[in-house]
Amino acid sequence: MRIATGCIGHETNTFSPVKTSIDNFKGGAYYIGEEIVAAFRQTSTITGGFIDSAEKLDMQLDPLLWTFATPSGTVEQTAYEILKAEFLDRLKRTGQIDGVLLDLHGAMVTEAIEDVEGDFIRAVREVVGPLPIVVTLDFHANITAEMAESADIIIGFDTYPHVDCYERGFEAAQLIFATIRGDIRPTMAYRQLPLLTSPPAQCTMKPLMSEVLKKLHALEVEAGVVTATLSMGFPFADIRDAGVSILVTTNGDEKLAEQCAAEFATYIWEMRDAFRVDLVSVEEAIQHANHSKGKPIVLAEGSDNPGGGGPCDGTTILRAFIEADVQDAVIAVIADAETVDSAISAGVGNRIELSVGGKTDRVHGDPVSLNGYVKTISDGTFVHKGPMGRGRVGNMGRTVVLKVGGVEVIVTEKRIQPYDAEVLRSVGIEPSDRKLIVLKSAVHFRADYTPIAHEILEVDTPGVHSPNLFSYDYQKLRHPIYPLDPTAEFR
Ligand SMILES: [Zn+2]
Repeated sequence: MRIATGCIGHETNTFSPVKTSIDNFKGGAYYIGEEIVAAFRQTSTITGGFIDSAEKLDMQLDPLLWTFATPSGTVEQTAYEILKAEFLDRLKRTGQIDGVLLDLHGAMVTEAIEDVEGDFIRAVREVVGPLPIVVTLDFHANITAEMAESADIIIGFDTYPHVDCYERGFEAAQLIFATIRGDIRPTMAYRQLPLLTSPPAQCTMKPLMSEVLKKLHALEVEAGVVTATLSMGFPFADIRDAGVSILVTTNGDEKLAEQCAAEFATYIWEMRDAFRVDLVSVEEAIQHANHSKGKPIVLAEGSDNPGGGGPCDGTTILRAFIEADVQDAVIAVIADAETVDSAISAGVGNRIELSVGGKTDRVHGDPVSLNGYVKTISDGTFVHKGPMGRGRVGNMGRTVVLKVGGVEVIVTEKRIQPYDAEVLRSVGIEPSDRKLIVLKSAVHFRADYTPIAHEILEVDTPGVHSPNLFSYDYQKLRHPIYPLDPTAEFR
């Protein structure tokens, strides 16, 4: 049995002014053929799960192209066309195959296409005809009817932070195997809800969503049900289909699939009010820390989360910390290659006048002029040790730690979401020692930081990934949709 596999992946934040080009893919994660296996073998990733599952089942993988660009703004149409042509060309030349396993994200948008994955899966379908296509998607996929129609089975993550990527990849490979052998005949039902939720409310480590997932898992073991997916959607894409959707796959029982999907959708809809988030201002967070004996207090700055398209160079909190003379604090991270260059030229142990951050746009705060002490210089590489992507090598680019009063700022060359505590440890900072830790991450950091954090606060700063959905001017999103339109209905 031979299965073609690969990925063209991006989480597109259409509110970001930074366009995503072909260079962001080719200069990001970009692997061809056997390079894919070398990059993902023994990693807790989707494709890592494909590889192990295929080996166990004696299925041969035919890796074509795997590429993923760091989340950012709308993808240039030409970039997608180049990647799609490359993938399809390899698919056509691959010879005899029995199916296709796709490791996709589900929230990619180009200048011309709102539903890129729908377009891509359909294009793959046109090449392989009736062969099974099994697709994995992120928890933040904005799943469309087109995706559901073009794929035989879609499997989304069940966790946010995403700690089950490997398991979902493993499951997908098992299901394509069972489908090819004729052990199952997958029938998938799709429901979309008129509901938009923001990342902190989607976190499956919190009681609301952990209950929801328990119920989803109970559905998956019901007789006749093969797999079920709840996608909470990516709200920072102004497209018609952003938001929550449900997929239920049964073994050949269309009526059961439709019924289960409808029931689960109704269950989610009825709890729509619970998906609210409590945010604090930076000033409130500083005050709170001053009065708290415990440490560390983690401030999640989701609005500048590079994992969702934030520029990662926002300065709102840095400025407030300096003005308030905050002590024993670390900011992870500010991406600013110019500052890294200047600090490296100045050298470790020296002071330098700098203008830090705020260079991408005017939304996330202006550059901050400061006199910084160059404490550490690093090559910026580290190995993930937390539950997300354990074993994978992270690369922040050249990285420096600047000390400004009582604040240590980790300045990186590349945009990187600091969800793994190794980001701090790799530059000599033990997170459990600090009073205040600012993380440009909405939710993923909780996987590694929950055991060490005394407290976690969600901070309300302006940005393209703000948990406050009312701060966006949606133009293309379908209406009515809850909570933007409080009278939205679902039947
Ligand atoms: Zn995600």
